[in-house]
Amino acid sequence: MVNIHTGKHFRRIRLILGDQLNAAHSWFREKDPDTLYVLAELHQEQTYVLHHVQKICAFFKAMRSFAQALENAGHQVQYLTLDDTADFQTLAELINELCSCYHCAEFEYQSPDEFRLAEQFSRLPEFFGARNQRHIKIREFDTEHFLLPYSELKHYFKAKKHVRMENFYRAMRKRFDILMEGDKPLGGQWNFDAQNRQAFKKQDLADIPEPLLFSNPVGDILARLEKHQIRHFGKARDDLFWPCTRQQALNLLDYFCTHCLPHFGQFQDAMTDQTPYAWSLYHSRLSFALNSKMLHPMQVIERVIEHFHQNQDKITLAQVEGFVRQILGWREYVRGMYWLNMPEVAKTNYLQARTPLPDWFWTGNTRMNCVSHAVRQSLEYAFAHHIQRLMITGNFALLSGLHPDEVDAWYLGIYIDALEWVELPNTRGMALFADGGLIATKPYAASGNYISKMSDYCTSCHYKVKQKTGEGACPFNSLYWHFLYRHKDTFQQNPRMAFPYKAWQKMSDSQQDDLLKQADHYLENLSDL
Ligand code: FAD
Ligand code: SF4
Repeated sequence: MVNIHTGKHFRRIRLILGDQLNAAHSWFREKDPDTLYVLAELHQEQTYVLHHVQKICAFFKAMRSFAQALENAGHQVQYLTLDDTADFQTLAELINELCSCYHCAEFEYQSPDEFRLAEQFSRLPEFFGARNQRHIKIREFDTEHFLLPYSELKHYFKAKKHVRMENFYRAMRKRFDILMEGDKPLGGQWNFDAQNRQAFKKQDLADIPEPLLFSNPVGDILARLEKHQIRHFGKARDDLFWPCTRQQALNLLDYFCTHCLPHFGQFQDAMTDQTPYAWSLYHSRLSFALNSKMLHPMQVIERVIEHFHQNQDKITLAQVEGFVRQILGWREYVRGMYWLNMPEVAKTNYLQARTPLPDWFWTGNTRMNCVSHAVRQSLEYAFAHHIQRLMITGNFALLSGLHPDEVDAWYLGIYIDALEWVELPNTRGMALFADGGLIATKPYAASGNYISKMSDYCTSCHYKVKQKTGEGACPFNSLYWHFLYRHKDTFQQNPRMAFPYKAWQKMSDSQQDDLLKQADHYLENLSDL
């Protein structure tokens, strides 16, 4: 039974989901004693996939802080813990109980960002109709978070159609007048990739900034997870360092502007295991604050551009454009691709990948240093940066044909920022090409050569990156050629793949044979790599 303030009646209940912590929402402009805001730790949200424990704790902690902030601002708020919601199997049952206990006539919610939840909300009228004598008025509101309103997504995206991110991004730059000079891009270029994306040199490592960490005690949450036998994985921390309040999120944004932005674009794709800050580097780590909506994307973009204008002696346009592209471009883009292609895209397996995830995805116990580093770090911090996700674990999953359902579940569970609307297009589309090219125009497949160029992982690896076959050969090398070979009917005619296929054809039959045999051996023994 819900722990309800006795005797109180409210005309309206407004539900706030864990990723709807937007203090600037128009809901909160007025204080209405007849409106009760409800935030709830839901059992169903902890069990639809196996989550990293820090992810659960961060959402609960941020929800609790948000509830407190609303109450301090004079709103009526009820925060329900796992104890309070334990008897409710579904969200609908809980809402129904709340409405009946408080004698509500109206139930309001913000549009969820995940298809799974949108479906549940769409069934509410039917559910209420069957259970209640009284009529409850249901209203849905925009979250007021994304730059593109949901209703406009269809102007930019079409179901089952590839949309080029670059074209979308330029349209967004023009539409929101970001980094523009009239109708031309600031600095005369849309894209500064050629100047960005460098690897670290030894002398760069000492300058990598120490990440800003916060102190958020979560012992009570961990105890509740144990009491309710919520399964989870990853390293538990009593004191969570992720930003769990709006002020902490703003502090992280400021820290990023001062310490990371000057080199953000330059080292965006670089990887290292040679510094204690290898897991954070020059990345903003703002994804959790953004995806939980503690920060608005335009607030982040404006702050970064303002900082750039104030510090042009230290920060180049290339760094700022590289960052803005991620938020104004990629983030809005994957959301559009998600909604226009759900639910079909969640089942895609274009390359017919069927192999189960090797156990070391859950432990990091592999001799491949790059993969071990990315997985261990993800278990430790619930975080890996984009190139680790795409070109290390994602690339490995692509090359070895791991089943997209299992890969998806792994990414959706392990990262602090993982919500399906952003995780799924990145995993199925970008990393696995499981969507058949809706997002990527070619698979992001790479051999050990790329990893060696962008990181220092190979120098201390059990495997030899220069070696393609034989004892100790880097698995990424033969797996890469095996991937190209087994999918030649799909990719051979793709002009962007012409170069590697030409290289394959230039090899002698015995070279090709050796590579395929080597890969077969690795594919049969993935757990032992
Ligand atoms: P920064 O490198 O500092 O970038 C700034 C911001 O740009 C990020 O916070 C994020 O909001 C946005 N951004 C950057 N790249 C992307 C992208 N490809 N798609 C959408 N937004 C982007 N991001 C998530 O937020 N949630 C996920 O569940 C998620 N899953 C991913 C799975 C795979 C397989 C891959 C390849 C990428 C995934 N990403 C996901 C995108 C990206 O890796 C993360 O947004 C980023 O690593 C978060 O770290 P950061 O905040 O330091 O980002
Ligand atoms: Fe990864 Fe191969 Fe380099 Fe080892 S040698 S770190 S497996 S790319």
